[in-house]
Amino acid sequence: MRYDKHQPRVAYFCMEYGLSEDLPIYAGGLGVLAGDILKTAHDLELPFVGVGILWKEGYTTQLINEDGWPYDKPATYTKDALHDTGIIIHVIIRGEEVPVRVWRVDSFDNAPLYLLDTALPGSNFGWATQRLYGGTSQDRIAQEIVLGIGGIRALEALGHTVDVYHFNEGHAVLAGIELIRRKKAKGYSFEEALETTRQEVVFTTHTPVMAGNEEHEHGLLQYMGAYDGLSHEEMCRIGDDPFNMTVAGLRLAHVANGVSKLHGMTARSMWSDKEDRAPIVAITNGVHVNTWMHPQMRRAYESRSGLWSPHMQAKRELLQTIAKRTGSQLNHQSLLIGFARRAALYKRPDLIFQRMDIMEPLLDSGRIQLVFSGKAHPQDESGKRLVSKIADITLRFPRSVVFLENYDMELGRLLTAGCDIWLNNPQRPLEASGTSGIKAALNGCLNLSVLDGWWPEGCQHGTNGWQFGGGYEGPNQTKYDLANLYEVLLQEVIPTYYENPAKWQDMMQASVDMAYHRFSSKRMLTEYYNIMYQPPRTAKLLAEEIEQVVATSWH
Ligand SMILES: *Cc1c(COP(=O)(O)O)cnc(C)c1O
Repeated sequence: MRYDKHQPRVAYFCMEYGLSEDLPIYAGGLGVLAGDILKTAHDLELPFVGVGILWKEGYTTQLINEDGWPYDKPATYTKDALHDTGIIIHVIIRGEEVPVRVWRVDSFDNAPLYLLDTALPGSNFGWATQRLYGGTSQDRIAQEIVLGIGGIRALEALGHTVDVYHFNEGHAVLAGIELIRRKKAKGYSFEEALETTRQEVVFTTHTPVMAGNEEHEHGLLQYMGAYDGLSHEEMCRIGDDPFNMTVAGLRLAHVANGVSKLHGMTARSMWSDKEDRAPIVAITNGVHVNTWMHPQMRRAYESRSGLWSPHMQAKRELLQTIAKRTGSQLNHQSLLIGFARRAALYKRPDLIFQRMDIMEPLLDSGRIQLVFSGKAHPQDESGKRLVSKIADITLRFPRSVVFLENYDMELGRLLTAGCDIWLNNPQRPLEASGTSGIKAALNGCLNLSVLDGWWPEGCQHGTNGWQFGGGYEGPNQTKYDLANLYEVLLQEVIPTYYENPAKWQDMMQASVDMAYHRFSSKRMLTEYYNIMYQPPRTAKLLAEEIEQVVATSWH
């Protein structure tokens, strides 16, 4: 990092922020990443501000009912962490002027985060910031108007000068439309306004699942007010027809990134036919060490003491929480495998249960124990079916399989520190990064994962964790991954744990070394500054610089 006072001033836009379980305005990895970035910018004293939304109902509190089916409640919280800036800005939604209050959060050792809120007393527009990822397409567009258009207006009202606008995922792209509108109002042609806006915008994409890239009908966008004064032709030129938020992000930015090397490649080929888009580089995610490394593990690691005793301490804390919340007493000597993620089909949470003839003896004997956690999106029936399937299995093996309700940052911390193994089996290449595996690695919880997301960059099989599936993509991928999962589990993981503790502990040490040095958010943010936040360069120059940055920042 070139630490000087002339670092570009960055405004980071994101729909969700995971700073702490006490402020439940995040759904998953995207928000946790944004939270870690704000904390790191604070640690490094960088001129960085975040822009987001104050969700009235947070995301969701998801519990399991007596029939084993997930149900949702609003995630309530207090406003203790929030400071009212006294600033109210306005956006236009469906032709009506909507007041938006600007809050500031600076309670979690984060860089300033401004949260926009339409639930003002007497306003009819509270619905626009009601629930993260809730509602219809109209709700979603209204939310995006508040975040993007409102975000630019809030920064101006706060008096922030911005050199670089960073759109984290497509939800924020209407900020680019607002920047263009302003330049047109000053007399720029559309082309000039687009080109100069590009010079100040960078974009991060996270979604290798095609259907996950949000699209909207132009008629609806125009009706809601998302055109913000631009014409139909201009909006199509930016986002195609229908309007694709990711494509718009790629056209509004001068450089874009995927969140792991593999995801960068996937994103480049996904969007290869899009003309006039930004080059897509790769900046692999990292995690905020202070947030995600167990304090005792960190002390032991940094003072070069043994890691087994702090690991067992973290494992006991996890088993206590499991006992308290589920009534199940797991055995702290027995191998504990964790799996916690959003319940989405491509993550295949039930994969390990495909062959019960193999699993039953292992679970009945207590040779392995499994702890699951995860929420489905409230409107996703297939995700809920996955959760309920796992909940069913816990009833069959109450002493060796447990499910923890309402996965959040607190559980994320307990699980990634307290499990022995972190299992990850998405359908490659659909997991863009998978930061929970980095948290696990940082705590000496060994990854057992398919080669997707960040893991191909970190994995040294049998040295700092294990891979299975060999990176195979194609027909019968699930069958292939499954056979190899059992092979590695039965022939390598279980015997090492029970018969070769010295090797296990060496692997823990190698795992922590790898995550601590190469997958911290400090390394990640340094790369953002050195690659993404510098003035636009030609693609060739960019490629050369990346080689240099990567060569120097990973150590
Ligand atoms: C870290 C984290 C995530 C993201 O992890 P993935 O590996 O991408 O699933 C999601 N939710 C919570 C609560 C987390 O702490």
